[in-house]
Amino acid sequence: MEQEKKYSFHQNLAYCVRSTRKGCPKLLFFCLLVILVNCLVPVVTAFLPKVVIEQITDGKPLRQLLLVTACLTGALALLGGLQKYMNQLIYWNKFTMNTFFLRLITRKGLTTDYRNQENEHFRKLQSESFGSCNGNFSYYAQTYDAVVLFFSNLLGFLAFAGILFTLHPLLILFLCLTTLVSFFLNRRINKWIEGTVGEKSGYEQRLRYVTEASDDLRAAKDIRLYRMVDWLNGIYDKNLKGLLGWYRSYTAKLFGVSAADSALGFLREAVTYAFLLYLALEGKISVAEFVLYFNVVAGFSAWLGSLLGQITDLQRLNQAMNRFRSYLEYPETYRREGGKPVGSLDSPERIELKDVSFRYDAEGEDVIHHFSLALEPGEHLAVVGLNGAGKTTLVKLLCGLTEPTEGTVTYNGTDIREYNREEYYRLFGAVFQDYSLLPVTIEEIVAEEEELNVDHERVETCLKQAGLWEKVSSLPEGVKSKYNRAFWDDGINLSGGETQKLLLARALYRNAPVIVLDEPTAALDPVSENRLYETYDEVMQGKTTIFISHRLASTRFCHRIVLIDHGQIAEEGTHEELLAKKGSYYELFETQAKYYRENPEGEVDHDEA
Ligand code: ADP
Repeated sequence: MEQEKKYSFHQNLAYCVRSTRKGCPKLLFFCLLVILVNCLVPVVTAFLPKVVIEQITDGKPLRQLLLVTACLTGALALLGGLQKYMNQLIYWNKFTMNTFFLRLITRKGLTTDYRNQENEHFRKLQSESFGSCNGNFSYYAQTYDAVVLFFSNLLGFLAFAGILFTLHPLLILFLCLTTLVSFFLNRRINKWIEGTVGEKSGYEQRLRYVTEASDDLRAAKDIRLYRMVDWLNGIYDKNLKGLLGWYRSYTAKLFGVSAADSALGFLREAVTYAFLLYLALEGKISVAEFVLYFNVVAGFSAWLGSLLGQITDLQRLNQAMNRFRSYLEYPETYRREGGKPVGSLDSPERIELKDVSFRYDAEGEDVIHHFSLALEPGEHLAVVGLNGAGKTTLVKLLCGLTEPTEGTVTYNGTDIREYNREEYYRLFGAVFQDYSLLPVTIEEIVAEEEELNVDHERVETCLKQAGLWEKVSSLPEGVKSKYNRAFWDDGINLSGGETQKLLLARALYRNAPVIVLDEPTAALDPVSENRLYETYDEVMQGKTTIFISHRLASTRFCHRIVLIDHGQIAEEGTHEELLAKKGSYYELFETQAKYYRENPEGEVDHDEA
C-alpha cells in the first residue's frame, strides 16, 4: 500500500510554520527579522555610493557629507552585526526543532499499527524521516535556511525590480528571461533526482544493512562460521558501485547545467552594462545614478538567480518534507480512541477466528486461508506445523497485531476491531521468538514497571514458575541485577534459554487472561523443557493458552492440538486422537520420535517420545 503525500510548497510551509509555533516560536521571529535585515543590507549598500557621490557633486558641506556617510555605514555595520547574531540564534534554535520532529517520528514508530512496521514502504519512509531531521544540516534544518533565503531574495528582488523599473521595463524583462532559462535547466536536474530517489535510497539502505551487520554481535557468529564476509562484501561493493554511479550521473548533469548558467550570466551582464554605459555617455543618467544602477543591476541578477535557485532547492526540500509527512500521516487503522470495554482481565473469554484469510502482500498468496477456530475460556491449545505453515501469523492475528485480509477475529463475541486496541493488548501475555528487553534490572524487566511500582513477591513467584529463580537469586545483586553488559559495565548477560525463561516470567507477571507462547522451548535444555511441561497446567490454570511449537511431543499436555499446513487446519484433536488418525500428525510425530526411540525393533513407544 503506497501512501505518498503530495503537499504543495505553501501547504508544507504552513505546516512548518505551525510546527515551529508549537516547537520553538521564537525561531519564527528570528527568521522574520533576518529576512528583513537580509533585504535591507543590499538596498542600503546600493544607495550608499549614490548618496555620497550626490553630496559631493551637489557641493554639500564636508560636515554633512561626513555625517551622512557615517550614518549610512553605521547603519550597515549594525545591520551586519544583527544579521550575524540572528543567524547564530537560528542555528541554535534549529536544534530544538530537530528534537521536536525527532520526537514526532519516534512516537509514530513506537505507536503505529504493528502491520505498518512490517511494511517495507513504511520502514523506508521511517528511515528517511529520521535522516530528514537528524543533525543541523539535515533536510528539515535546511528548510529553515532555504525559506529564509527565499523570502529574503523575494523582498530584495521586488525592491531592486522597483528601482530598475524607473530605468527601463524591458531591461527587467531581459534580465528575467536569461535567468529563467538557467532556472529551467536546474529544474530538469530536480526532476531527474525525483525519478531516481528510490534507486538511491535502495543502495543506501543495503549499504546500511551491511554496515549494521558488521556491528551486530548476534550476527557475528554466523558471519564467521558461514563465511558470509565475501557475500556481505559483495553486497557492499555492488551497492556502493550503484550509489557512486548515481552520484556520477548527478555530478555530470550538474556540471552541464553550471556551464550553461555561466554562459548566460556573461551575456546578461555584458548587455546590461553596455546599456548603462550608453545612457551615461548620452547624459541620460547622472554619474551617481550610473553607480546606483550599476550596483542594482548586479544585485538584481543575483537576487533573481538566487530566488529561482531557491525555488529549485525548496522543491527538493518539499519532496523530502512530503516523504516525512507521508510517514507521520501514514494511515492507522486500529482503534485507539473510545471503543467497547474488553471486560475483566481476571478471566478469559471465548476467542474465535471466523473464516479468516490473511496475506502480507496484496498481490501475494494467502498465508492464512479461510481459517476458522474457536478457543474456549481456559482452553490450552497447541498449534503445530512445519516452518512457514503460518503459526506465528495466526498468533499475530489473534493478538490483534495484524488485521485479517478477510474474515473476523472475535473476543467474547465482539469483533476485536470494536475494542480499543491498546486495551485489547492487555488481554495477552506473550513470549515471541523475536523480543526486545530494555537494559534495566531483572525485576523491572519482569514487571515492566519502574522499581518503585514492582511487586517483589510476584516477581519472585513468576521467576520461580519460569524456572529462573535459582539463577537470579544466585547473582550478587539478585533481582536487582542489571540486564545487558553492553549497556552496563556491571550488567549481566543471559543465555538463550535463560532469556526465554525471563520472557516467560514477564508474560506471567502480566497476569493476562490469555498467554501466547511462540516456540517457548526452542532454547531450553531438556530438563528445563520438561519442567515447563510438568508445571504448565498449574502455572497456566484458568488462563487460555496458545502454545506454538514444531516439537510435537511437547504439546501433549494441551487440551487440543491443531496442525497447520499452508495456513489451514490440516488436523485437529488431542494427541491421542491425532495419533490414532494416522495422518500428517502421526507421520510428523513418527519422524521426530524415531530419534528418541531406544527400541531396536523400531516400534514406536509413544510415551517415551
Ligand atoms: P511459522 O510461524 O509457521 O513458521 P509464519 O507465520 O512466520 O510461519 O510465516 C508464514 C508465511 O508467511 C511464511 O511463508 C513467511 O515467509 C511469510 N511471512 C512471515 N512474516 C512475513 C512478513 N512480515 N512479510 C511477508 N511475509 C511474511
